[in-house]
Amino acid sequence: MRFVCPNCGGKLNINDKSATCIKGHSFDKARGGYYNLLVGNTGGIHGDNKEMVLARRAFLGGGYYEPLASRLSQHAIAHTPVGGCLLDAGAGEGYYTDIIERALFDRDGISDVSAFDISKDAVREISRKNPRISLAVAGSYHMPIADGEFDTVINTFSPLALEETRRVLKMGGHFIMAIPGEMHLFDLKSVVYDTPYKNVVADPALDGFELLIDEPLTYKIHLENSESVRNLFMMTPYAYRTRPSDRAKIEGLDNLTCTADFRIFIYKKS
Ligand SMILES: [Zn+2]
Repeated sequence: MRFVCPNCGGKLNINDKSATCIKGHSFDKARGGYYNLLVGNTGGIHGDNKEMVLARRAFLGGGYYEPLASRLSQHAIAHTPVGGCLLDAGAGEGYYTDIIERALFDRDGISDVSAFDISKDAVREISRKNPRISLAVAGSYHMPIADGEFDTVINTFSPLALEETRRVLKMGGHFIMAIPGEMHLFDLKSVVYDTPYKNVVADPALDGFELLIDEPLTYKIHLENSESVRNLFMMTPYAYRTRPSDRAKIEGLDNLTCTADFRIFIYKKS
């Protein structure tokens, strides 16, 4: 296991039921085989709740984001050395982590993939999906990981803690990030809002990194029933801040053709 003690940064020694550092900080092993390494104030952030995890699982299970997962795993293969180790930082319910881990496992015969998320419900879901992935409940702004630990770090739609991401990468290691593109889910927003806005894509330049690849990925998805439309809506940030009257517009849809628009960036730690 590549996670360290979140209190002192010491190596964690694993036994049947817990992980303990040399200073005696101890963390119970959950039934799913992961450790809760979340300490201190998380600033009121708890991550996705169970309802959101279930909506995400149902939607992603429909394969609508499979083209993105497939492209990310190709990039992970190309930018992770044989036998190398990869971290998914803020992995959610592990849809991408699982597909990437299987691609590395197919290539190498072994894999060394770790993932964390701040939501316990999400981490439990990853543990059900793929027991080979090493898991912890932890936050992006205080990763329980030693300096220079990973060959590759992945971030898909999770808040970017730039300093921490850079710190846990080896020198010359790769950082793969996917974010929503300008037109992502514009059609869904058009249903809810009178004047929908395009997503703002920030300047991809990151301090301490060299940008190697800036790749757009755009395609149409066809949601064929009201449940799929609702699940997609529940995955978006709009679900939190939409008035009931606007929400009813979503509930009333029995299908929707929608733009999926992503940007994939690949960086090298310099
Ligand atoms: Zn400790």
